[in-house]
Amino acid sequence: MVGSACGKVKCRAALPISPSNAHMGGMTTSALVLFSGGQDSTVCLAWALDRYDRVETVGFDYGQRHAVELQARQTVRARIAQAFPAWAGRLGEDHMLDISSFGQVAASALTAERAIEMTDKGLPSTFVPGRNLAFLIYAAALADRRGLRSLVGGMCETDFSGYPDCRRETLDAMQRALNLGMAQDFTVETPLMWLTKAETWGLAKQLGGDALVEIVRADSHTCYLGDRTPHAWGHGCGTCPACELRAKGWDEWVAGGRPALAA
Ligand code: ZN
Repeated sequence: MVGSACGKVKCRAALPISPSNAHMGGMTTSALVLFSGGQDSTVCLAWALDRYDRVETVGFDYGQRHAVELQARQTVRARIAQAFPAWAGRLGEDHMLDISSFGQVAASALTAERAIEMTDKGLPSTFVPGRNLAFLIYAAALADRRGLRSLVGGMCETDFSGYPDCRRETLDAMQRALNLGMAQDFTVETPLMWLTKAETWGLAKQLGGDALVEIVRADSHTCYLGDRTPHAWGHGCGTCPACELRAKGWDEWVAGGRPALAA
């Protein structure tokens, strides 16, 4: 079930539990970032590295078409560590979890050869039912073993594609369920929840200046089709919903003068 990091999870399971309320009492703070290698989760990784003493990443292989996104994860991690030495010391292990059985259940345009279109439920056919809920259960179980307290994800209600498991209300309920069900005190952090896609570029600039913006632009991967055709806003097919959203956000941000998000 657990990928290449399996043995390490086992032998490091005795790590002390760290409090999430940061720097109080000089205790180490820690987070696990749900990291797909996409634009949003790349900005979330930077956000976590800016705040927590120890940050690990987790990715999920659920049989998605865009396996290229999984490759982007390693490139982004390496580029961030190279460009930001202060963050490099905080960036811990990467974990890859194979949940391909979930992909078999949740047949959709991302996991099966179906067209990307709006369904009669008003959701894009790219929606994998319960995907973020499944991710969080696996992430929380991993965080428990690793002694990590905050779960950080790029879920967003603004500009979103209508995914019901991206709503903060859903995630509040999930946080409560995880803490009740695992007798834990996790916090589910969603730094992008109320940001537009243009503002997410601004957050990248606030966190790491133009160097981070360039890593997000050039190395993260969002395209549903796994296309790496270069554009001003990054790489992708340019026509799938994910590319359109990314391009629109980039264009708005550039038209606004590439501002850093106000802290
Ligand atoms: Zn695309």
